[in-house]
Amino acid sequence: KQAKASGKPEVYAPSEAREARRRFSIETELRRAIDNEELELAYQPLVDLRSGAVTGFEALARWTHEDRGRIGPTEFIPVAEESGLILDLGRWALDRAIATIAAWDRQNEGGLPFYVAVNLSAIQIARDDVVTCVGETLRHHGVSGDRLTLELTESAIVQDPGRAMRVFEGLKGLGASLSMDDFGTGYSSLAYLQKLPIDVLKIDKSFVRQMLDDSDSVSIVRAILSLAEALGMATTAEGIEGAPLATTLAALGCRTGQGYHFARPLAPDDALQFFREANPT
Ligand code: C2E
Ligand code: CA
Ligand code: CA
Ligand code: CA
Repeated sequence: KQAKASGKPEVYAPSEAREARRRFSIETELRRAIDNEELELAYQPLVDLRSGAVTGFEALARWTHEDRGRIGPTEFIPVAEESGLILDLGRWALDRAIATIAAWDRQNEGGLPFYVAVNLSAIQIARDDVVTCVGETLRHHGVSGDRLTLELTESAIVQDPGRAMRVFEGLKGLGASLSMDDFGTGYSSLAYLQKLPIDVLKIDKSFVRQMLDDSDSVSIVRAILSLAEALGMATTAEGIEGAPLATTLAALGCRTGQGYHFARPLAPDDALQFFREANPT
């Protein structure tokens, strides 16, 4: 897929050349987008499947390009990871999410009882000092660490488990929770899962989506739920698109759900409004 850095000229099919150009300009323009605050975070509710209360939000990066329109994170996050821009983007996302918690709390005396989950790339774990960064950002905005969850993928562990352990413990030391994202799609061994201080297993939407018409997927989800229970971890299922899935997952004992059935990722004001409607005092 990528051009090799050898002396030989690379021959592309026209579509590959176009793809390569698009990647290159996305990289250049993403750099500018981070500096110019062209990015935003959208907040998708995380819902208690039994009570329907909103217990948290996942912060998801959004980029509206002035000419190209919306570019989705499945396109620009991989480019950011390959170019190293993910370090700046990751710091920006942490700052934005924590600043938003502080802003929401200012509108509500005594603060609000929900957490915000921020995605951390494996590259940030490997190459940045995320513990110091998270600690300083929390302090800067006057937000307590227990309002923050960090979503990590199995790829953050496999490369350097020792480092991952130190980082995870450091983040726990700040009061944050840790959630293992896309669980079931990676390569982490159960031994790491048991040793690392992980609070939540987040069941990947590929399993959730297939549950309605594929009994193997139901078995996988059931197995993940009982594994989580055995390890004392909570569970969140993502990609819940309809009421039947929400009901089935609740019946299987999954605590938290996320998906279009409840809400799409929302702008900060809409997210706060959604929280108030779902959690009447
Ligand atoms: P993810 O962390 O697995 O996030 C969940 C994705 O599922 C989001 O896609 C969300 O919009 C989508 N989703 C939520 N509910 C449903 C549903 O009911 N059905 C379906 N089909 N999809 C649903 P999104 O926002 O496009 O983000 C894609 C990925 O980009 C994320 O996957 C995450 O890996 C990455 N990403 C997004 N923001 C950030 C960020 O700030 N930092 C890092 N490192 N990665 C990010
Ligand atoms: Ca996530
Ligand atoms: Ca996920
Ligand atoms: Ca994913």
